[in-house]
Amino acid sequence: MSPEKVIQKIKKAGLKGRGGAEFPTALKWEMVRKVKAEKKYLIANGSEGEPKVFKDEFILKTHPFELIEGIKIAQETIKAAKAYLYLRKDFFQKYKKKLEKIIKEKNLPIIIFKKQGGYLCGEETTLVESLEGRRLEPRSRPPYPSEKGLWDCPTLINNVETLYYVSRIINNNYQGERLYSISGGDHPGVYELSADLSLKQVLKKTGNWPNFKFFVQVGGGASGEILLTRELNQTGSGLGAIIIYPEDKTNPVSLMKKWIDFFIQENCGKCSPCREGVYRLKELLSQKNPDQEIIKDLLFLLEKSSFCPFGKAMAQPFSSLIKKVGIFNKNK
Ligand code: SF4
Repeated sequence: MSPEKVIQKIKKAGLKGRGGAEFPTALKWEMVRKVKAEKKYLIANGSEGEPKVFKDEFILKTHPFELIEGIKIAQETIKAAKAYLYLRKDFFQKYKKKLEKIIKEKNLPIIIFKKQGGYLCGEETTLVESLEGRRLEPRSRPPYPSEKGLWDCPTLINNVETLYYVSRIINNNYQGERLYSISGGDHPGVYELSADLSLKQVLKKTGNWPNFKFFVQVGGGASGEILLTRELNQTGSGLGAIIIYPEDKTNPVSLMKKWIDFFIQENCGKCSPCREGVYRLKELLSQKNPDQEIIKDLLFLLEKSSFCPFGKAMAQPFSSLIKKVGIFNKNK
């Protein structure tokens, strides 16, 4: 199939990136394809690192052939000189052999690369820095990796789930599905269901709709937004991970402290709003009666002035938890 037809087919299928940003896949491919350059690269991102998100591993474990085929299709379509499959350290250890066997059998120019740092390396420009062997910090954008990525060459970066579905689309085996990591319910796990379902439908279909009062976090176990049960009819972006919290047994302050520990460990230290802000947040939450206005100001600053999406996204779970669940009158 010609590259144009491949892109057309992906466009028609309406595939959007499954790494979180939900950017239309065909458009991203077209952008890289159109740039004139001597060399181009492809990076398949399998470095998921947010708590309670485990769909990338599900693909590596159960669909390695489709993933490698998706990488091959992308590589041929954008004419990439090489492709890198970028894996979290434990995924690298567990799946490298199996993946290399497939790559060798098909004689493909795909290199499996071990992630160097933590969660932040899932961010596209940090991932590029990591592959180049530099300090693990995000780059300023623009230029975007599609114009200037790995070694300043146009680089297509797709999540492994996106590439898995590319192979399904090209093989006429895709009806708009996506993967959902579900935790906290009676039947935790990864489920493949239509991307058009509401969260309520997903939880009901999978036997995970609780019989107690609850709220959920969607998009990831640290940066995901908090939603109440009345908000679960929505469909849309970032719904690939759903975490259920029982309302009566969840101490919101303890939950926030867990998120903070994650962000303290994973931020890169490059910009002060995020680097210092997260410590100030921890200090404030350790006080008996923290000033809510200062917390809100701090979250506003984090969202508006952090250098990269990591810091900006950090405010979302805290703001939504404070607004919807409340934190200051619960002494559990
Ligand atoms: S927002 Fe956080 S992770 Fe991003 S550059 Fe600033 S310190 Fe690093």
